[in-house]
Amino acid sequence: MQAVTFQAPGEVRVQEKPDPEPAAAGDAVVRVTAAGVCGSDLHILHGRHPVEEGFTIGHEFTGEVVAVADGVTRVKPGDRVTGSFVTACGNCFFCARGEFHHCVDQRIFGHGKISGDLQGAQADRVLVPNADMTLRPVPDGLDDDVALFAGDVMNTGVFAVRSAQVAPGDSVAILGMGPVGLCAVQAARHAGARTVLAVDAVEDRLEMARTFGAIPVHLTEQDPRAEVKRHTEGRGTDVGIEAVGTPAALDLAIRLTRRAGRLAVIGVHGKPCEVHMGLLWNKSLTVTTGLSNVLAHFDDVLALLAAGELDPSPLVQRHLPLSQAQEAYAAYDRREALKIVLTPGG
Ligand SMILES: [Zn+2]
Ligand SMILES: [Zn+2]
Repeated sequence: MQAVTFQAPGEVRVQEKPDPEPAAAGDAVVRVTAAGVCGSDLHILHGRHPVEEGFTIGHEFTGEVVAVADGVTRVKPGDRVTGSFVTACGNCFFCARGEFHHCVDQRIFGHGKISGDLQGAQADRVLVPNADMTLRPVPDGLDDDVALFAGDVMNTGVFAVRSAQVAPGDSVAILGMGPVGLCAVQAARHAGARTVLAVDAVEDRLEMARTFGAIPVHLTEQDPRAEVKRHTEGRGTDVGIEAVGTPAALDLAIRLTRRAGRLAVIGVHGKPCEVHMGLLWNKSLTVTTGLSNVLAHFDDVLALLAAGELDPSPLVQRHLPLSQAQEAYAAYDRREALKIVLTPGG
């Protein structure tokens, strides 16, 4: 089969590999029909997340089950399925409490040995461990492209909104209109937020946020603090969502959120960062953060996508055959699309 592999910082390659076979009880093999290229794949491309040379990358996928091992009961060959980007055992201390994102046996597709040594999904076929947990059947009528948002990007947007307890009538400021921030706009509106202020510096992204029901706020050409005040009777928003992962974005999110408000930090912070604790303390903010608990929200998010209540399809701005993965990565790195979907067999 063909698989997209990491070679060296700045270099991915499509290479021939043997087809995977179910190896352990609970495994399934999925023939991939759509695989997303994600911001975290760019971290791998640039060598910021270490992956071995020749490792297959990619973690967002839809496809068809072609084989299952003993013990798989929820999916069978022929089923159209989508996967969570992260697996869980279902049995450990954390899984027993529904905290699947902290499973002691967590493995992330396509992120190298350091993240569970699980080969990725940008390939003709992918081996899926613990398939009953990791896979979900895709409802009829839901596009492959859209389904693959359920196990990662839209899931994270919904997680932010739920962890910050966005309620009907709330005002919400969302920093960063990358794919996750844009999905958080949709999720916040769906949760009943009356006013969603979308902050970014890229016009196209602000325009898309506007079509999703947000008030666009330009980070540098406008004054985000003044705009937020103007829409919240001077108080700041009930909820802040930081979807960037930089110290500056976090600081601004703290300042945009009202006293006694809630702040969800879903941007990935890879380094220590100074936080104005005095300001947090003074404002009595409740802060939630961390990786999305994907498996806890997976069924809900898929159902909302199938019903059309959440619709990230405008983010999919480009399709390329898997064989052109190098071009896809180059284009994604140049920010030419919010989501690029690779199609195997093309
Ligand atoms: Zn992703
Ligand atoms: Zn577990």
